[in-house]
Amino acid sequence: MKKISILGSTGSIGRQTLDIVRKSNDLEIISLSAHSNIELLKEQIEEFKPKMVSVGNEELRNRLKEMVDGVEILSGIEGMKTIAKDDSEILFTSVVGMVGLIPTLEAIKSKKTIALANKETLVTAGEIVMEEAKRNGIKIIPVDSEHSAIYQCLNGERQNEIEKILLTASGGPFRGMKREDLEKVKLEDALKHPNWTMGKKITIDSASLMNKGLEFIEAKWLFDIDIDKIEVLVHPESIVHSMVEFVDGSIIAQLGAPDMRIPIQYAITEPNRRENDIEKIDLTKIGQLNFEKPDINTFKPLYLAIESAKLGGTMPAVLNAANEELVAQFLNEKIRFTDIFDRLEMVLEKHDNIKRPNLQEILAADEWARKEIIKKV
Ligand code: MG
Repeated sequence: MKKISILGSTGSIGRQTLDIVRKSNDLEIISLSAHSNIELLKEQIEEFKPKMVSVGNEELRNRLKEMVDGVEILSGIEGMKTIAKDDSEILFTSVVGMVGLIPTLEAIKSKKTIALANKETLVTAGEIVMEEAKRNGIKIIPVDSEHSAIYQCLNGERQNEIEKILLTASGGPFRGMKREDLEKVKLEDALKHPNWTMGKKITIDSASLMNKGLEFIEAKWLFDIDIDKIEVLVHPESIVHSMVEFVDGSIIAQLGAPDMRIPIQYAITEPNRRENDIEKIDLTKIGQLNFEKPDINTFKPLYLAIESAKLGGTMPAVLNAANEELVAQFLNEKIRFTDIFDRLEMVLEKHDNIKRPNLQEILAADEWARKEIIKKV
């Protein structure tokens, strides 16, 4: 039995990971954490019988205690840190946002394999996290479909023979639109992703192309590659999940259905593969695969993310924190879609970048950026 724990088990990735576990007979759940959906967590506890669970705060913990028996219930960041040190072999970090960073570092120190589904961990503190992973000799296996694709394309290849990474993007629901159109889009339009079913925050990030910007920074750290060797390609069909070009001109791509359970399962079985009931793609039905350059003048968040990656230091942490707050405001219909773009740029311009920051400096930059965003509304 392979022992697995999940931070963020009631979210989109968490639920799909449990679906893989449900259909396997050699996977066991040790711990689960959820932010606030205790009704679903209760069902998961009854089905998967974890030893330990954690919820967002003390009040939720008390409510959950009334609902279930036979499981240790923790709460808050301390609860997630305790789960990070449990006796599982693989920790899925599928929480949304910066909150994933501290428990991930904790799990690395406990020499666990990390199935990384929390982009913000590498975006904000990529250098620290990768150094810590190296020091502890642990693997960080990407769950994000693009990074899983790149990871698979690099299987058996040599780092120094990579020419570039071709990171694909669907382009989101607003592909082809110009600024004046984007100023009028509604929340419900932004929540309609053409190919993928995902959580709300990442769906908005996909519509603004910020998601690709975060993935760009994530790829830099994960694959230890120079920024000028990463290229974003818009590929509206979402069939090619990313590619690697090598020095001899060969390009290796990973293709498949846009179904997150494929990269989730691969994170558990790699380098092996396993049959599943996910529908296979029929290339003759798809017919064409298209690629185009992203419009970074219109979709400014992608441009700002690439610039932040170039500047490094605390810039990516500020980018991420400001974006998290702005997306939350947009989801609450407090600001327009393009306000995300403009306010993000303002905060980045105002920030005094700290080169090679330590963890405290990263957390402080994150906090500063959130306050700046909140101040303006
Ligand atoms: Mg992705």
